[in-house]
Amino acid sequence: MGWSVRESQRARRMVVRVFHTGRVEVVVPLRTPARLIAGFLERHRSWIERKRAEARRTAAPPEPFPPLAIELAVCAERWRVHLAGGAGPVRVRAAGELLTLSGDTGNRGAVRLALRRWLQERAKAVLGPALDACAHEFGFGYERMVIRCQRTRWGSCSARRTISLNACLLFLPPNVVRYLMIHELSHTRHMNHAQGFWQCVARYCPEYRRLDRALLQGWRHVPAWVFGEGVA
Ligand SMILES: [Zn+2]
Repeated sequence: MGWSVRESQRARRMVVRVFHTGRVEVVVPLRTPARLIAGFLERHRSWIERKRAEARRTAAPPEPFPPLAIELAVCAERWRVHLAGGAGPVRVRAAGELLTLSGDTGNRGAVRLALRRWLQERAKAVLGPALDACAHEFGFGYERMVIRCQRTRWGSCSARRTISLNACLLFLPPNVVRYLMIHELSHTRHMNHAQGFWQCVARYCPEYRRLDRALLQGWRHVPAWVFGEGVA
């Protein structure tokens, strides 16, 4: 069984986590002796093995990187990825539904960054007009839209009515994305999650409960390469 140990200033006791990739991490208070860590892992061995087996069953097999294709469910696009080779900075050129990567494509970090940049541009082009249309349809106003690419949240709305959308929404089904947009637009009228807020959401999206659950599970639609996990 392999694992990594992370010392944490804030940790008061040892905690073990099993990631969906099967990676095991133990977080320990500073200067925890190795034999205590080994003993801790030994005591939790059967739990860890069970979690790892679960992760193996549910995890998708490692995908090749760079990916062979990128599927954007929200707009039903499938981009084939072509490696043109070359040297220097990695560039992405999009034409038709072909993404051509040129430059030093052996540099995985640079390829990932270039693809994420492209994803953000695509998100701006696809999600921007969709958010506008949604706002127009239901009479909402917002100040501006920004695209982020983060692992923690799908969207947000600031007090200044800036709506942030996660570029990874591109990988989700259209009805789930539309719900998220109605959710964030409703925050331009209600800056909380109180009853009035949910009534507003329900008015424009009666299926919001089911779609909110689908959104929570939406991370499984995001290919591993975006955040660099489980990539062959
Ligand atoms: Zn909210």
